[in-house]
Amino acid sequence: MDNDSLCPCCSQKPYCECCKRYHDGAPAENALALMRSRYAAYALHLADYIVATTHPDNPAYSPDSSSWKKEILRFSHNTSFVGLKIVEFIDGAKSAYVTFTAYLKQNGQDATFTEKSHFVKVGGRWFYKNCQTAGV
Ligand SMILES: [Zn+2]
Repeated sequence: MDNDSLCPCCSQKPYCECCKRYHDGAPAENALALMRSRYAAYALHLADYIVATTHPDNPAYSPDSSSWKKEILRFSHNTSFVGLKIVEFIDGAKSAYVTFTAYLKQNGQDATFTEKSHFVKVGGRWFYKNCQTAGV
């Protein structure tokens, strides 16, 4: 991806000034930054980043990371990441919530969804723990 292109997380900022630093290994400052960078990682097919930022308690978490990564890549290659809208961000020191709408298309069909995600901070890094509500 061209570093000067707009970041796929829809921040309207160039990728190199937005989510690239997280994808390169910098810890996200807060759960919102992590959430945006995970959306951008799906759009850029960065399965390693999705795996690295998922909490082991997440239902999607698998110790078999190679087949999990294949699953992530199958999803990301079959999906167009049309847009991201942040609905609500509830920050906290160790626990935070982000409600967002991800505008997606799969096989020409709308696959947009809204989710309230729970994030936890462990060892100075934020992780995606689970989805609190579907279809908010
Ligand atoms: Zn971004």
